[in-house]
Amino acid sequence: MGLVVQKYGGTSVGNVARIRDVAKKVVEARRAGDGVVVVVSAMAGETDRLIRLAREVTERPNAREMDMLVSTGEQVSIALLAMAIQSLGELAESFTGEQVGILTDSAYTKARIKKISADRLREALKEGKIAVVAGFQGVDERRNVTTLGRGGSDTTAVAMAVALQADRCEIYTDVDGVYTADPSIVPDARRLDKVSYEEMLELASMGAKVLQTRSVEFAKKYEMPILVKSTFMGGQGTLVTREDQDMEQVVVSGVAYAKDQAKVTVVGVPDRPGIAAKIFGRIAEENIVVDMIIQNVSERGLTDISFTVPKSDAIQALEIVKEVATEIGAQEVTLDDRIAKVSIVGVGMRGHSGVASQMFQALARENINIMMISTSEIKVSCVIEAKYAELAVRVLHDAFGLGEGRPEVKEV
Ligand code: ADP
Ligand code: ASP
Ligand code: MG
Repeated sequence: MGLVVQKYGGTSVGNVARIRDVAKKVVEARRAGDGVVVVVSAMAGETDRLIRLAREVTERPNAREMDMLVSTGEQVSIALLAMAIQSLGELAESFTGEQVGILTDSAYTKARIKKISADRLREALKEGKIAVVAGFQGVDERRNVTTLGRGGSDTTAVAMAVALQADRCEIYTDVDGVYTADPSIVPDARRLDKVSYEEMLELASMGAKVLQTRSVEFAKKYEMPILVKSTFMGGQGTLVTREDQDMEQVVVSGVAYAKDQAKVTVVGVPDRPGIAAKIFGRIAEENIVVDMIIQNVSERGLTDISFTVPKSDAIQALEIVKEVATEIGAQEVTLDDRIAKVSIVGVGMRGHSGVASQMFQALARENINIMMISTSEIKVSCVIEAKYAELAVRVLHDAFGLGEGRPEVKEV
């Protein structure tokens, strides 16, 4: 008997009728002979609603209590889905993150999985039950409830698939696969049949929220194939898998954008050894992830440092940096949260020069100013003004010939 882990996102379990439909799909997979573990998200909009409630109570909710609160969304969906499956005549049992032994660190609201024991899941599967697991949540060593960051149910699913050595992990969502760009803003975006772990990792971390970045990290590390499919329509979906030669033929595979970052600038920083270490050391202590960093050429012993952090951490980062600025004698700290990051991604970029300049030209033609640039072997990212984000994505999608019916830009 094979074993499959299926994950259904918020829209897929958005109301009772949809939960019944999901139950049917799950039962179908079970009756086809596979052992089935289902991971579910909170019902559509529920996590946002809970976050809003907390903000009504206080401007800066305590992170531990926040996780206690938002983890409840998933608990509702697992119970309802288990009932729906049972009413179709199959055995099912629901489990919280703690019950299936998802042990995380204590970084509330963005915890990382350290270990999964999954003993209860194995037992349930042995008894022929369909196991329904709450996504997004775990517990730390002291059994405090933790959550894995927005979109974290994807990570629960992939981590579970790895822990149980499942044959594959199927992610069911409201799109029928991974596209060359977010199909909700680029109408002629194209579904990819296959995408490499590396590309998906860059696309996800650059803002393509169809998969949470951590879930792709897990999949890549343990070579767990992920199949992204639609809950609502058929189709073969997109397979996230090991890189192959076909993939290398295409220079740019996708465009992503993110508006969830903010830019912190420290003005007039004394240019001497140890200053950057001090600023970024203190930020890292608070588990704040810094993405791009630029430091200007120093003039008369002073320089400026800019960097980006998630918007949700921006106020905290600003406070930390203000403290450090006083200690080191920097002149001023500013925050700009009206920025966006647009990125092009493709493993074919490795053997290709001039891709970055093509990107800059395409943005320049639309008069879009670039504030920061960062590159990796298979990615180029630019920080621009937030109001141009969607335009920039469409322009780049066009410039690299990614649209429907257009010939792919292939290496010759
Ligand atoms: P779920 O609730 O099922 O986890 P999400 O909303 O988290 O679903 O992710 C699916 C959404 O991701 C899609 O509706 C789409 O708008 C967005 N998205 C962004 N980039 C891409 C992309 N490159 N391909 C497919 N979907 C994308
Ligand atoms: N419910 C959580 C969220 O909205 C986790 C998830 O859906 O993956 O972010
Ligand atoms: Mg999601």
